[in-house]
Amino acid sequence: MLWQLAGKKNELAGGSVRTQVAIIGSGPAGLLLGQLLHGAGIDAVILERQSRDYVLSRIRAGVLEDGTVRLLDAVGAGARLHAEGLPHDGFELLFGGRRHRIDLQRLTGRRVTIYGQTEMTRDLMDLRASEGAATVFEAKDVALHDFDGSKPSVTFTKDGVAQRLDCEFIAGCDGYHGISRASVPGSAMQIFERGYPFGWLGILADVPPVSHELIYAGEERGFALCSMRSQSRSRYYVQCAADEDIANWPDERFWDELRLRLDPATAEALVTGPSIEKSIAPLRSFVAEPMRFGRLFLAGDAAHIVPPTGAKGLNLAASDVHYLSQALIDYFGERSSAGIDAYSAKALARVWKAERFSWWLTSLMHHFPQDSAFGRRIQRAELDYLAGSDHAMAALAENYVGLPY
Ligand SMILES: Cc1cc2nc3c(=O)[nH]c(=O)nc-3n(C[C@H](O)[C@H](O)[C@H](O)COP(=O)(O)OP(=O)(O)OC[C@H]3O[C@@H](n4cnc5c(N)ncnc54)[C@H](O)[C@@H]3O)c2cc1C
Repeated sequence: MLWQLAGKKNELAGGSVRTQVAIIGSGPAGLLLGQLLHGAGIDAVILERQSRDYVLSRIRAGVLEDGTVRLLDAVGAGARLHAEGLPHDGFELLFGGRRHRIDLQRLTGRRVTIYGQTEMTRDLMDLRASEGAATVFEAKDVALHDFDGSKPSVTFTKDGVAQRLDCEFIAGCDGYHGISRASVPGSAMQIFERGYPFGWLGILADVPPVSHELIYAGEERGFALCSMRSQSRSRYYVQCAADEDIANWPDERFWDELRLRLDPATAEALVTGPSIEKSIAPLRSFVAEPMRFGRLFLAGDAAHIVPPTGAKGLNLAASDVHYLSQALIDYFGERSSAGIDAYSAKALARVWKAERFSWWLTSLMHHFPQDSAFGRRIQRAELDYLAGSDHAMAALAENYVGLPY
């Protein structure tokens, strides 16, 4: 390989280099794809706009499907996850003043694992560095070229020096605001989108979780989620207005509002403390079709966004790169294009099911400002039906633990 690294710092030596797959973005999609390809002997370089520390400071997802855990195990990044992650056999829905348990284990024979996206990212980054695979952090002005032909390339600058990466394929794993999807002519792509008139105000605090399982609350004052990252670190959310100003939410106001959205016993048990992170996330459903344009593939948030209610964003990134890695392994191993030709349709079939589930759970649990009294009654009737029907609970549980791939 012509790629040169300056010691272990993963810094470019300059000039033009060649790799088989250029991966844009070192989020979960890019890092996991990098390891799946590395394990199969396929050379890939990851270009990341931000610094390593910046990527590791982003607080995001925390619920891993067992398919995601299997992929992390397959690449050798599962050890800390199994030691420190929290396996969950169920979660609770809170409505009408009562908590109703969804027993994932009984209904599906499967479970989810609570393990922060930040920790998973750190594990994958450490593994990649220990194996000497190339990542270029703080790669600026990344631009994609000629992916509709047979010789694509990516240009960027590193420390003010212009660089070029020649490759056979480009994997656009650079999230919703990345350059990959933006490089595709609008006429080649169809966008499907739905906005929601609210966001999630989230707080991270070093306090023990109020319950050992997640609680999704859909009471009159709006949605709330009691989640956690560990036995001593909690993540809580309350539904807020889409244009809410975070400055209006000192910690005390957040904790007061959260208590009002919980049943009395849970509110009483809530342990509060100073926030170590606080942010507002907008809610959006978004799909770009197709997910392949010549020699450019999109994966993860670069191609689709779900509202976080179903905990699917990170898990979809994982299933996308599973399909994509299989396709690329077939291509480089057997020179068969069948896998890469099928990638977009295969990935989108699973993406749309997760889009449907995330939209449905969001619609079920949130207070929609424009909803009539009729709409609220329908919501409540559906929740009552769910809590009373094993069939309905099984459908929820099956989607929550993740559809097979
Ligand atoms: C605030 C927040 C909370 C969330 N909570 C949850 C949750 O509870 N559950 C859940 O399942 N999902 C959640 N998500 C979604 C989940 O985090 C994403 O689905 C997941 O990160 C997708 O991974 P990805 O690798 O596709 O994209 P990303 O994680 O966005 O990674 C993309 C990477 O590409 C880099 N990049 C962008 N542009 C460029 C460029 N031009 N050049 C080079 N690099 C570039 C970015 O810096 C980033 O590191 C949340 C997302 C947000 C924003």
